[in-house]
Amino acid sequence: MDYGSASPVDPRVLEAMMPYFDKDIGNPSSLHSAGRRAKRELEAARSKVAALVGAPNPKSIIFTSGATESNNLALRGAAMRYKDKGNHIITSSIEHMSVMNTLKDLQRSGFEVTYIPVDKDGLVDAERVKSAITEKTILISIMYANGEVGTVEPVKEIGEIASDKKILFHVDSTAAVGKVPVSVEEEHIDLLTISSNDVYGPRGAGALYVKQGVRLIPFMLGGGQEYGMRSGSENIPGIVGMGKAAEIARNEIAGDGARLIRMRDRLVDTILKTEYTYLTGHRTKRLPNIASFRFSFIEGESIILQLNDMGITASTGSACSSKTLEPSHVLIAMGLRHEEAHGSLLLTLGRYNSEEDVDHVLESVPEVITKLRALSPLYPKK
Ligand code: PMP
Repeated sequence: MDYGSASPVDPRVLEAMMPYFDKDIGNPSSLHSAGRRAKRELEAARSKVAALVGAPNPKSIIFTSGATESNNLALRGAAMRYKDKGNHIITSSIEHMSVMNTLKDLQRSGFEVTYIPVDKDGLVDAERVKSAITEKTILISIMYANGEVGTVEPVKEIGEIASDKKILFHVDSTAAVGKVPVSVEEEHIDLLTISSNDVYGPRGAGALYVKQGVRLIPFMLGGGQEYGMRSGSENIPGIVGMGKAAEIARNEIAGDGARLIRMRDRLVDTILKTEYTYLTGHRTKRLPNIASFRFSFIEGESIILQLNDMGITASTGSACSSKTLEPSHVLIAMGLRHEEAHGSLLLTLGRYNSEEDVDHVLESVPEVITKLRALSPLYPKK
């Protein structure tokens, strides 16, 4: 129940990757036949990732080491390239830390950033994005969907606004791609962050879609690989794996999605029957694989540890920042008080979960909640 933190590599992906670790080890820059084979595999993977996100030209896919690097490349690269046109960037208050901290760093170098607030369900209002635009705005960065509460943002609407005003539009689709159909063309997206592991590819791989004609200033300089945007010998096994994972995701998205929605809704509908329990995130504009809650009077960390003892892995707040005891900035931005945000539980489903897993969670969660509340001095005992 913690696919959002790490997903297993699909066995079909692993099989596709294996030859490139020891047998077929060419470098795509080499002229010999092994090099040329690697180059062909690299380009085949590029086409598969492009197809997954509706990119008409595979050349617009730049392979990176993962979503964090893609977000850094998109934001820094666009800010530096277009700084003569303006210094204003618009984002939301619920972005991942790889967006938040990159933008904070850009603020230290003189960029101005407007953080659009979200409503209680974590939704960004496209009209507020529109009103925040000034003649100095060069970039809008809004995530496709939030991985902590599952809310899917009005990306197409914001894309239309950005494209009307000729402002670059970056979308972090890490949590969404492979779960819901994403189309850079239809949604007017100029820069799209894509993660490999979130589509059951290997960790250490990712991609950034860069619309043809958009220029970025790269920060990884060297041999000029990836059209000069990201130097360094390509991670061929990782890229082949990501390509295979993208191909599978594209073929199976409809069936996977329907199955996940069924399991997610069972989790949501049943867990919400527990008293003093609330859904976090939007009820319907929600990723198929995310069931997220908050429980009054108890701490998320205690829930996670108790569930762990029952063989269930889950998250509270953001898995990426759970080393801090600060409540999730996403839940706070949605208007929750600190004590409310501390009682959060995030269940992220994936390809290998079964209905039996869901049964086990549905038996365990109420038991854990009752046990912890019995120990809580805050819980109003009847
Ligand atoms: N963006 C979003 C929306 C995420 O949820 C995450 C974490 N899975 C990232 C970016 C960063 O991903 P990674 O740590 O794999 O670079």
